Amino acid sequence: MNAEIIAVGSELLLGQIVNTNARFLSRQLADLGINVFYHTVVGDNPERLKQAVKVAQERAEFILFTGGLGPTKDDLTKDTIAAQLGKQLVMDQEAMVSIEHYFKKTNREMTENNRRQALVIDGSIILKNDNGMAPGMFLTTENHKYMLLPGPPSEMEPMFTKYGQEAIAGMFGRQAKIESRVLRFFGIGEAALEAKIEDLIDAQSNPTIAPLAGDSEVTLRLTARDDTSETAQTLIDRVEADIMARVGEFFYGYDETSLMAELSKLLKEKDLTLTAAESLTGGMFQQELTSIPGVSSIFKGGIVCYSNEAKIGLVNIPPETIGTFGAVSSECAKELAVNAALILNADIGISFTGVAGPDELEGRPAGTVYIGISIKGQPAYAEKLQLGGSRKAIRTRAVKYGCFLLLNRLAGTRKR
Ligand code: ATP
Ligand code: MG
Repeated sequence: MNAEIIAVGSELLLGQIVNTNARFLSRQLADLGINVFYHTVVGDNPERLKQAVKVAQERAEFILFTGGLGPTKDDLTKDTIAAQLGKQLVMDQEAMVSIEHYFKKTNREMTENNRRQALVIDGSIILKNDNGMAPGMFLTTENHKYMLLPGPPSEMEPMFTKYGQEAIAGMFGRQAKIESRVLRFFGIGEAALEAKIEDLIDAQSNPTIAPLAGDSEVTLRLTARDDTSETAQTLIDRVEADIMARVGEFFYGYDETSLMAELSKLLKEKDLTLTAAESLTGGMFQQELTSIPGVSSIFKGGIVCYSNEAKIGLVNIPPETIGTFGAVSSECAKELAVNAALILNADIGISFTGVAGPDELEGRPAGTVYIGISIKGQPAYAEKLQLGGSRKAIRTRAVKYGCFLLLNRLAGTRKR
């Protein structure tokens, strides 16, 4: 099934508010395994709304509207759609009672136009509004499904999650339970990952596999539909195992998480402490680490050593190392990691040195990065990366790589 979201409201076109409703609904629909193909925004104008609906009917099976359900003159969504579908507006008694109740509760006089809010399109399933007055509607015709939702996000979002989802699940009949799981990957591009699992993506319809790229990470969203949550999860488990067999080395976590969050979780599990010596990243690694609550048990503090002077003076790097190999070198990266761990008395030291650009340094091109890693009881080592992109992208990706390298190094006994 594919869907289109039509947001109604002139404020959206004037740039006064952002269309967060479309974003919210798109995410929710993705979780339900429904593809959103179009977002449309149209002003409070019946003629243009009518046109937008016509276009949507041609290209979508499920059309969702937000906005224009209120009591004022410019709230024309349901009148327009009812007219277009040849349906009547009828008074919904339950909605009427709840609107009267709402006015009593807030100690206000109910004006006549508020009655309009209790009018609903004949034959629709009513979606209750627990946070406002205008009810939502879900309507099925021969070729389409329609859902009408209020504009204010504080009303629309809870209405959708509480009542809208249930109405949608209902239309899938028996297979009413929908489960989804996100697998997160790092160190592999979207195209490369897709190429490795292309046949799985093509063959699967339940679960569906939806790749998404962003911020040098790739995610796969697996969505399954079945009689029960457990059986839907089992369907996901099976496809996940197939995917992991091919690209498991790039996997780092499930659902809403980050490389740094996974790293700090792992360090806590293993009861290990960490420090960092940062040249290239100027403290970004430590900044990101400390943005995670509860890291004081694993993070000792660290050193920002941007200049050679700081590398020598603060991290005890022998001037000969820099003289012979350069500050951007595997030797320097290793010594930074080892010395930082010694100075801060930490189990693990990580270091970042490199050329963020835009200009080259020591004859090395922008994007040359060395990450040093020293883990107690193991020989120190350094990984060389050649990263592309802007200065900001190079630094951000270096931090992520650092997390990923540590995760992989320490993952020996990690539960997946
Ligand atoms: P009301 O009863 O408040 O009039 P309504 O369903 O008629 O609700 P609108 O009048 O279209 O909705 O919009 C009301 C408010 O909701 C807007 O001023 C805006 O703050 C918010 N809103 C509307 N549409 C969107 C949207 N697409 N994304 C985010 N916020 C929105
Ligand atoms: Mg309104």
